[in-house]
Amino acid sequence: MDNIKCIICLGENPITLENPLTKEHIIPEFMGGAKYISRVCKCCNEWMSRDFEVAVSKFDFYEIARYTHQINGKRKLVKHPFTGSYEDDTYGKFRINEKGEIIVIPEIEIKLKNKNLSLVGSIDQSDEKVLIEQVLLKLERDKEICEKFGLEALPSLAERLINTSDTKYESHYNPKVSKSSVFDIDAHIKLYTKIAFETAFDYFGDIYLDDPVAVKIRKSLQSGDFEKLKNLSAIAGLDPILDDAFDSTYHWVVLLKNICYIKIFNISWEGIFSEMQLFEKGHAGIVYKYCYKSKKYEKLNLSEHYRNMALHQMKINKK
Ligand SMILES: [Zn+2]
Repeated sequence: MDNIKCIICLGENPITLENPLTKEHIIPEFMGGAKYISRVCKCCNEWMSRDFEVAVSKFDFYEIARYTHQINGKRKLVKHPFTGSYEDDTYGKFRINEKGEIIVIPEIEIKLKNKNLSLVGSIDQSDEKVLIEQVLLKLERDKEICEKFGLEALPSLAERLINTSDTKYESHYNPKVSKSSVFDIDAHIKLYTKIAFETAFDYFGDIYLDDPVAVKIRKSLQSGDFEKLKNLSAIAGLDPILDDAFDSTYHWVVLLKNICYIKIFNISWEGIFSEMQLFEKGHAGIVYKYCYKSKKYEKLNLSEHYRNMALHQMKINKK
């Protein structure tokens, strides 16, 4: 146990009862990743999840993907990506709950003019039954009204107010909401670099940690400073050959020669993960295929993956 070191800090944070080795998910749980390695200490795990994962998990892109595929992660309920409070000229204030239902927040205004009360407001159709409660509450809070009519008279007053013809309130169904989103490429590069590093470690073991590129990546993961890695990785444009070979119904992490190719929800990234020739001669590469629905993963040789694809293609052509 003594000589087992965390692969991120290499023992800078010693393994103790307070800082044990943890389950470090290679692809974060919020993306549907289920495979983990057990060689990252608690300190480093918490730091990486705070610095690389949380930022990315908040992007609408993943909120929408998670909601569409119902990927639970640590949270039990995947909330609707548009959950929140909004304001609109036509509908007034409304909110969208975690199930994606739109609820118009009742806005009720009661005006007292001479002896006449008038009611103006906006309310959701499904909330009409609570209208009477809302109106009564408003009346009770209005000092002038309370003095003028007396507390006992308020319930019948509320009812009368809702039923009289001068009363005007509107009810609405389903306002439309649109959102604009930001996509932070730097945050993605950090996260995908971490995935590449941990996958290479998972496959090659401790020998990978001595690779000069692995050393650079490890230091960046430890410090959060990715300046020195700038030339090594990028969110890839559409590489038609790779994109055809790895469809978006799975997540893919592929190590081929010294390149790592990652594709998660159709966003692809490519980076150099090693300098040494780690694969034996003639070995095409390795494919980690993650099913984000079943939370299972398979490890395949690249040549095996291509063979499966060719067989699959032949089956399609026969139909
Ligand atoms: Zn560590």
